[in-house]
Parts: sequence; C-alpha cells; structure tokens
Amino acid sequence: MHKPWLKHYPAEVPVTSEYPRMNLAKFLLQTTARHPDHAALYFLGKTMTYRELLDASFRFANALRRIGITRGERVAIMLPNCPQAVIAYYGALMIGAVVVQTNPLYMERELLHQLKDSGAVSIVTLDILFRRVAQVRDQTDLQTIIVTSIQDYLPFPKNLLYPVAARKDGMDRTVTYGSGVLNMQEMMACACPAPILCEIDAERDLALLQYTGGTTGLAKGCMLTHYNLIANTMQSKLWQYRNVDGHEKYLAALPFIHVFGMTVLMNLSIAAAGTLYLVPKFQITEILRLIDAHKITVFPGAPTMYVALIHHPQRSKYDLSSIKVCISGAAPLPGEVQTQFERLTGGRLIEGYGLTEASPVTHANNIWEKRKLGSIGIPFPDTDAKIVDPESGEELPPGEIGELVVKGPQVMAGYWNRPEETAQALRGGWLYTGDMAKMDEDGFFYILDRKKDMIIAGGFNIYPREVEEVLYEHPAVQDAVVVGIPDAYRGETVKAYIVCKSDAAVSAEELDAWCRTRLASFKVPRQYEFRKELPKSIIGKVLRRKLLEEEMGKAKHA
Ligand code: AMP
Repeated sequence: MHKPWLKHYPAEVPVTSEYPRMNLAKFLLQTTARHPDHAALYFLGKTMTYRELLDASFRFANALRRIGITRGERVAIMLPNCPQAVIAYYGALMIGAVVVQTNPLYMERELLHQLKDSGAVSIVTLDILFRRVAQVRDQTDLQTIIVTSIQDYLPFPKNLLYPVAARKDGMDRTVTYGSGVLNMQEMMACACPAPILCEIDAERDLALLQYTGGTTGLAKGCMLTHYNLIANTMQSKLWQYRNVDGHEKYLAALPFIHVFGMTVLMNLSIAAAGTLYLVPKFQITEILRLIDAHKITVFPGAPTMYVALIHHPQRSKYDLSSIKVCISGAAPLPGEVQTQFERLTGGRLIEGYGLTEASPVTHANNIWEKRKLGSIGIPFPDTDAKIVDPESGEELPPGEIGELVVKGPQVMAGYWNRPEETAQALRGGWLYTGDMAKMDEDGFFYILDRKKDMIIAGGFNIYPREVEEVLYEHPAVQDAVVVGIPDAYRGETVKAYIVCKSDAAVSAEELDAWCRTRLASFKVPRQYEFRKELPKSIIGKVLRRKLLEEEMGKAKHA
C-alpha cells in the first residue's frame, strides 16, 4: 500500500507502537502512583487531587458492585462535565461495566431508545434530570437510578449550569424518588475505598457503548473496547509529544458524552497526569476567564468554539498566551478561523478528524511540523487510510475523490446488536467512514463532505464544504452552512445560511458577486438566508437535517 504520509512523521513519533492490553481505568491508577497530590480536576473553584479522584472512583466502583452490577453490564451516565461524570466513568470501568454516555439534553423518546437498545441496568444522572429518566424507566431494564446534584461539588451555589437550590444531601426535595433510587454521595460515603480493578480481556471487553448517528436516524451503539480507547488515547498522547507529563492544563469544554471529549480530554488528561478544567456549559466569557486565570495550555474543541472565541467582543481583555495546543475536530475547521485563532493566542490550532466508530481520532495535522490548511492531516500512528471508489471499492490514486476508509487499533468492534450495519461499515478489516475525501501526492487527506451531504445540481457534484470555505473568507461572515434544496430544473440547488459578525453586514448580492469570482458557477449559491444563529448539536456540528426539514416544511405549505 502506498503510504506517502510516513515521511511527515516527526522524529519523536513512532510509526508503530505497542498499546497496553489492560483495563482502561488503569491509567488513573498509574497516574496516581506518579503524581498523587497533583490536581486531577478543577471545577468551579475547587480542585480534586489524583489521590482523591482515585479514592472516590474506588468507592463508587465498590458501591456499584454492592448493588449487584457485574462485568459486561451497561451503566448509563447522563451528566454534564462535572467531577461526578469522571468518578462514575472510572468507577464503572473498574468493575468491568460498560459505560453508555447519554446526552443530558435527550428528550424522552431519544432516552428511551438508548436505554432500551443498550439494555442499561443502571443510570447515573442529575436530580434535575430525574423526572425524565423516571418517566421511561418502566419500559427499560433499569434496576437503579443513581442521582447526584451539581451542588455537591460546588463551594457555593453558582447558577452556571442549572437553577437548582443547594440541598445538603444532594437530592432535589421537590421530587418523589421511590425505590431503586440511590444517592451517589451516600453510596460513596458508605462504600469502602478498597482498590478494585476487574481483570478484563482488553480486546474483547467493551469499555463503552457510544451512540452515534442520532442526528440522521436512529442512533446506533458503537462497541468500543478497552483496547480501542487505550490505543486512541496513546496515539493522541504521542502526537502531542512536546506536552509534559504532569504539567498540562486541559480545558474540558467538549462534553464527555461525546467520544472526542472523552478520548482527547478525559482519557488523555488522566493518562498524561494533566489537570482537567471542567466546563459544564459552554459560555464563552467563562472560557476566556478560565484560560486567562489558570493559564490553560491544551484546548481541544470543535470549530464553533474557536469561532465564538475569536469573535468575542472582549477577547483582547484576556491573556490567552498560555495556550500551546488546540486540536479541532468533529467538523471542518475554516482556514480563516485557524489563522485568526493562532494570531490571537500564539498557540497552535490544528485540524484533526475522526468518528465515533474509531474512538474517534484517525487523522491529524502535525502540531509542530508540516501541516496544511484545509486538510485533516495525515493518519495517526498505526493507522492506515485509503480512498476507494464508492461503487467498485477499488483504491483510487492521489487527487481523486472517493470514500475514506481506515484501519487501526482504534476501530470499533462493530455496532451493538446490528450485524447488517456492522457488515456494511466494517469490510475486510477496513472501516468505511461514509465521508468523501481525497489524498494529495504528499499523503495529506482532505474531507469534502459526508457522502449523503453531497449536492447534485444539474448532474454536477457539489461539496458543501468547498462553498462554505469561500463564504467564510468574506470579512462580514461569521458562520456559513450550505445545503442542497429541491429544484424543479436542476434536481437540487445550493442554498446558503449565513450568520454575520456582530459588527458587520453583507447582502445576498454582495455574497453572490464574491462567490462568482471564486467558484465555478454551478457551485454558487442560488439562495441566501441570513440568521442570528444556526441550529447546532451539543458538540457544535450544524444540524443540516434541521435546516432541510424546515425547507421541506416550507415546500409543503407553498
Ligand atoms: P461523530 O461520529 O459524531 O464524531 O461524527 C463523525 C463525522 O464528523 C465524520 O464522519 C465526519 O463527517 C465529521 N468530521 C469529523 N471531523 C471532521 C473534520 N475535521 N472535517 C470534516 N468533517 C469532520
């Protein structure tokens, strides 16, 4: 296989490595042995050392065991980024249970699907989310609901997250809990902190059942083994070879319920003895304050986070020069945003790529060496990638567009209880990503779009991302997204949704003229709609489907 990217590997990063076959929670034990008194977590003014975090996780693991949870059983965690989310995660892993990260924003229908599909026997959630869980409980396998309160780790009530009155015992008294409901703090107080680490088969036992695809249909559970996640955590660590063990401060703004936040933040920070600055809700002034006050060094994020930061009117009031490394993933990073962010902070912002099915990272640009704007970079250590013809499956030469397929130790074991979808996604050891991409002669990869987002107008293929890049370059544009809408003549046509910068304005005519000098005419948007904001998922991906549904609704009523 032709692997032109290998020549770009920094001398410090081995092309291939051994990844330990162990329980993923062992990272926490190993780090605590090296740095027991180092701060592991920071949350709203309080810190927790590695020794304290390990003690809390052991207590929770013992408590889970006492209520009868065994190896392989699923435990859902429905929490924002807070200390309990980290404790519940490591506690569950320690006893060999499988974590099912559940979005706190899920409404009953989505929650029910995920709980039923995964067969979760227990869920850890916030008191203010209890009613929602209780409503679906009878239709699921849940035997216990473990409730905690955000207040339990607050030095004083701060309404940063949810407006809950402080309760001494961490339970919201306006709710009747009933049997099978436990208080996480009480469970931990009564449990012993004896060390516990279930022997597992790292390549077979699941650490995580991570749901994906919810914005495009019924969510499927990706089976990620301990080994998958250990490999991806270590690959990410190798990539950041200049970061120092025990020194880095990670801004945990990405939600842990998303696999990107879990691997490059929770797992990586713990493996590298960093301090995680937990952000329960993305508020840009709070982020700027945290970076400045605590001299944050590592800030993995989604493009929307960096966009919000560079456009914040008070950004220059804060000192952001401590930032060393930012890895952007989950969605395309506009080149303009990258350049402006680096100018503002002096740190390195590089684009990477991944998907839940690969734990998630498969590609990234070099942080301190050769990189290319607009590219997702080169494959991670031990990761192979190629572009194939979506029809014939043949490997395509550099420069040609096809489907990106990847192979590596981070690729999932399959979809939970879905043999047909698994056989579609995993063929001959390769993961078919569903993303249209190309590789240049030099071995750098470029994502054009999801296969299904490609617009076909008058027989021409149009990749929304290319058009969005051009729109982003316009000085008045803050956010842009392009979708294909039905068109009687061309089959589909291009529509752009634009959010202008707060201090700027632009007309559809001006944008049309801008695009016409930069794109072939068939790619130029035929319609523009200006908005104050765009609908986005919890990690900041634009929900194209929502925009398309609105279009369909309009067409019906026309
Ligand atoms: P998820 O499984 O939710 O993490 O979504 C994975 C999908 O996000 C990928 O299949 C891509 O379509 C998209 N994605 C991730 N990173 C990038 C990137 N750097 N550029 C473009 N799309 C991306």
